[in-house]
Amino acid sequence: MTQTKDNAKKDLLRKIPAVDKLLEHRDFAALSEKYSRGLLLKAVQKRLEKVRQRIVLAEETVSPDAREVTVTPGDIEEEITLCTTPLLKPVINATGVVLHTNLGRSILSDRTLDQVRAIARSYSNLEYDIQKGVRGSRYAHVEDLLCEISGAEAAFVVNNNAGAVLLILNSLALGKEAIVSRGELIEIGGSFRIPDIMQRSGAVMVEVGTTNKTHLTDFEKVISDKTGILLKVHTSNYKIIGFTAEVDLPALVALGKRYHLPVVNDLGSGSLIDLSPYGLDYEPTVQEVVKTGADVVTFSGDKLLGGPQAGIIVGRKTILDQLKKNPLNRALRIDKLTLAALESTLRLYLDHETVIGNIPTLRMLTITADELERRAVAMRDRIGHAIPASVAIHVKEDTSQVGGGALPSQQLPTRVIALSSSTISVQQLERGLRENIPPVITRIHKDQLHIDLRTVLEHEEEALEKALIAVILSLV
Ligand SMILES: *Cc1c(COP(=O)(O)O)cnc(C)c1O
Repeated sequence: MTQTKDNAKKDLLRKIPAVDKLLEHRDFAALSEKYSRGLLLKAVQKRLEKVRQRIVLAEETVSPDAREVTVTPGDIEEEITLCTTPLLKPVINATGVVLHTNLGRSILSDRTLDQVRAIARSYSNLEYDIQKGVRGSRYAHVEDLLCEISGAEAAFVVNNNAGAVLLILNSLALGKEAIVSRGELIEIGGSFRIPDIMQRSGAVMVEVGTTNKTHLTDFEKVISDKTGILLKVHTSNYKIIGFTAEVDLPALVALGKRYHLPVVNDLGSGSLIDLSPYGLDYEPTVQEVVKTGADVVTFSGDKLLGGPQAGIIVGRKTILDQLKKNPLNRALRIDKLTLAALESTLRLYLDHETVIGNIPTLRMLTITADELERRAVAMRDRIGHAIPASVAIHVKEDTSQVGGGALPSQQLPTRVIALSSSTISVQQLERGLRENIPPVITRIHKDQLHIDLRTVLEHEEEALEKALIAVILSLV
């Protein structure tokens, strides 16, 4: 660093005003009336620290016209806005990935949100039995409901499905062996791996079969008096195709019965509805899995169910009673707002005729390509005349994804709005939309930007259109 640049920097740093001095200045009087002193001090400190950093890190020689350090009331208000605006915020999901784990998986219906709000702003009978006037169980609000919907004898809920699997392994196979097929030793979303969760649970994992083929005899050969459970895990986010064999649930259930061993099935997504009439691949529903005789079945609350994050466990009463006694429960227990959302979502399942329309995840998964085409064409027409001719806008065929590790090979036919331009790069467009308020998350396909309305709610369309027009106009 040259001597003159060094001195210029020192000079500037000396000119940074003291916090108190700055606030005493009459320009800041209006701010002092509007905000508390504590908040103002914090905002000023943050701003001055940024100014200091900018001077210290400046690469180029400090230009003569930047020799003064100015901090305006507008700067401080900007800092206050930054301090008071939550970092966690709504985004518009235009990717077409319905259960987008990075974007929060399932979204909740307004009816469910009303219930969450009602429970959050008052005391509630969370753990209180109103009829008897004594302490009650937080699980009681969803137990009967889950039994009624799934056909199981008993039900239980925890914080998420990873927690449910941990609890089951720890309750039923601590210091014992859990037998699982090599083809089902999955990793979900980076941090959930069956072998790791097994180890933490205190169960001893016994892998059987091979990656592509596992037979019932592979299980039977290793059963001993050390065996605790037989485990089946939905492979969720991948599919083995070709020369394959897996042990199906009825066979595993029969084997479990013969040796008096509980059969546990981690379903992952666990749908309560057969979505195949809507063009999705057939998957056994939770009800069917329970009927087949699995002793314990677990699935997520925020995947195909369309509710809040939760781990749902249904199955045989004697076994679930064992889970309920595990002290780990206290660490895995479901929060009351989640419970309110879960109960409300489950109640929507009691009406088979309206459930798909009432649960946003199910609605998004079942929107037809025709409906998506109508919406995309209407939006293209509204936007088309507001943007310059150098940006091409078309509606074209594409596929959306279910996401969330559910139905990995499922292709949902969709129509996307495709944008391309010879003057704006697709990366610039993608970034501009991502940095919009609210952020719009899109998909790049070769040199085109794809907007899939499957995951855009109708009430978000106006904001999406505004964002598209503003971002394009700012880039041309
Ligand atoms: C998604 C998934 C999990 C983890 O569920 P969370 O609710 O995200 O904790 C566990 N097992 C399988 C098979 C899954 O697909």
